[in-house]
Amino acid sequence: MASDSSSSSRHVTVVGAALTGATMAIYLARRGHSVELYEMRPDIRAADVTEGRSINLALSTRGLHALESIGLADAARELCIPMHGRMIHSPEGDLSFQPYGQEGQHINSVSRSDLTELLVEAADQRPNIDLAFRRKCVDVDLDNPAVTFEDLEEGGHQTVETDLVVGADGAYSAVRESLSDTEGFREEQSYLDHGYKELRIPPADDGDWRFDPHALHIWPRHDFMFIALPNPDGSFTGTVFLPYEGETSFESLEGSGRVREFFERQFGDLIGHLPDLEEQFEDNPTSPLVTIRCEPFHYDGSVVLAGDAAHAIVPFYGQGMNASFEDCFIFDDLLDKFDDNFDRALPAFSQRRKPDADAIAELALYNYVEMRSKVAEENFLLRKRLERTLQKAFPRAWQPLYSMVTFSTMPYAEAKDRAEQQEKLMDALLPESVLNVIGRVINP
Ligand SMILES: Cc1cc2nc3c(=O)[nH]c(=O)nc-3n(C[C@H](O)[C@H](O)[C@H](O)COP(=O)(O)OP(=O)(O)OC[C@H]3O[C@@H](n4cnc5c(N)ncnc54)[C@H](O)[C@@H]3O)c2cc1C
Repeated sequence: MASDSSSSSRHVTVVGAALTGATMAIYLARRGHSVELYEMRPDIRAADVTEGRSINLALSTRGLHALESIGLADAARELCIPMHGRMIHSPEGDLSFQPYGQEGQHINSVSRSDLTELLVEAADQRPNIDLAFRRKCVDVDLDNPAVTFEDLEEGGHQTVETDLVVGADGAYSAVRESLSDTEGFREEQSYLDHGYKELRIPPADDGDWRFDPHALHIWPRHDFMFIALPNPDGSFTGTVFLPYEGETSFESLEGSGRVREFFERQFGDLIGHLPDLEEQFEDNPTSPLVTIRCEPFHYDGSVVLAGDAAHAIVPFYGQGMNASFEDCFIFDDLLDKFDDNFDRALPAFSQRRKPDADAIAELALYNYVEMRSKVAEENFLLRKRLERTLQKAFPRAWQPLYSMVTFSTMPYAEAKDRAEQQEKLMDALLPESVLNVIGRVINP
C-alpha cells in the first residue's frame, strides 16, 4: 500500500459517490492520487433519505475486510445490528431459527444511508479528495480521457480532464454506457420476472422491535416471499418479492383492494405489525431485479468500472455491496502490485474480478430459490445440519457454501467450485432416499 505522499500522484475522477465511489476514492487518495468525486444526487449528509430503495443491507466479512484496510470497519460496526441466522415464519406462524454459521458468526444489518454518510464524510476528510454533488456524468471521452458533467444545480456543463476515470455510478452506469461501442466490450442485462417492494414495520408502542432483531426474518412461500431486516430505531425494513404478473403478483394485487386479505392469508403473524399496509403498498415503488454482466471492466489504462456499474446482481445473497467493497480492496492490491501503472493494473483487475463477478451473480440468482422455497423443506434443512456437523468435524476440508461466500474472503469463483465438489460428494453419500429415511427417524 502506497502512502499519501506517493511521488507518482495522478489525477483520478470517480463518478458516483455512494458505497463504491466513496470507498474507491478513499483507497486512491491513500495512495497519494488526487481524486475528484462526483455525485448527481444532493449530499447525503444533508439530504432526506429516499424511501423505497433498499433502506438496509447485510454487511458481512468481505465488506468489513475492505473497510478494515482503510480504517473504517469499527465505525461501520457501530452502525450494525448483528443477525445470527434466518428466522423462518411458517404459514401457520411457527418460528424456526437456522443459524448462518458456527457459534458467533453473523451478518450485519446496516442502514444504506448511514453507511454511505460515514464513507462520504471519511472521503471529505481527506485533503486530496474533492467532492462535488448534483453533477451528472453525461459523457466520457475514453481516449483523452475526460468526463463531462451536467451541473444539476446551476445548469451548464463542465469537462474534467483526468488520468483515470472510475465508473462507480451503479447499475445504470453512464460510464459503462460510454464503453458500449468500444471493440470487444460485451454487456448483458437480464431482469427477473419478479420485482420487490419495501414496506416499513414500525417499532412497537414501547419502541422495541416487533420481532427478534438478531435474525433476518423470512416468510418463504415458494413462488414469493417476505423478508425483514432490523433497523437501530426499533423498526424493520420489510421487502415483499413477488412475480410481476400472474395469479399471485404485483399486477393482481395493486389497486385490487385485496392486499390486506392476501397478507392475512400468507403472512398471518406479520399483518398485525403493518397498520398502514395498504397505503405503503400503494405509495412505495415496485422495483426490478436486474443482473448486469459486462466485460471487460476497463478500457485501456484510462477507464475502470467498479461495484454495481461492473456487476449488478440480485440481492438474495446479500453480496452486492460486499462485492463492491471487495473490488476496491482488490483494485488497490493490483495498483500496489503494478506500482500504480494503470495500463497494467486495469486489465489485471478485469481478469481477476470477472470470474468472481460471474460466480456471485449466479449464486445470488440461485439463492432466491433457496430463500423463498428450500428453507422450508425438511430434506434441505437436514442437509444443512449435516453440513454443519461435517464442518465442525473437518473444518479445513468441508465448508458450507454460505460460509465461504459470507464469512471468508475466498474468491467467489473458488467458493462456487468447491461447493460444487462438496455437493457431488454429499449427493453420493446421502441421496434423497437416504435423507428421507434419516428424516423419518429424526422426526417420526
Ligand atoms: C433490494 C436490494 C437489497 C440489497 N441488499 C444487499 C445486501 O443485503 N447486502 C449487500 O451486500 N448488497 C445488497 N444490495 C446491493 C447493493 O445495494 C449494491 O451492490 C450497492 O448499492 C452498490 O453500490 P454502488 O455504489 O456500486 O452503486 P449505487 O449504490 O447504485 O450508487 C451509485 C451512485 O452513483 C450515482 N450516479 C449514478 N449515475 C450517475 C451519473 N451519471 N453521474 C453522477 N453520479 C451518478 C448515484 O446517484 C449513486 O449515488 C441490495 C440491492 C438491492 C436492490
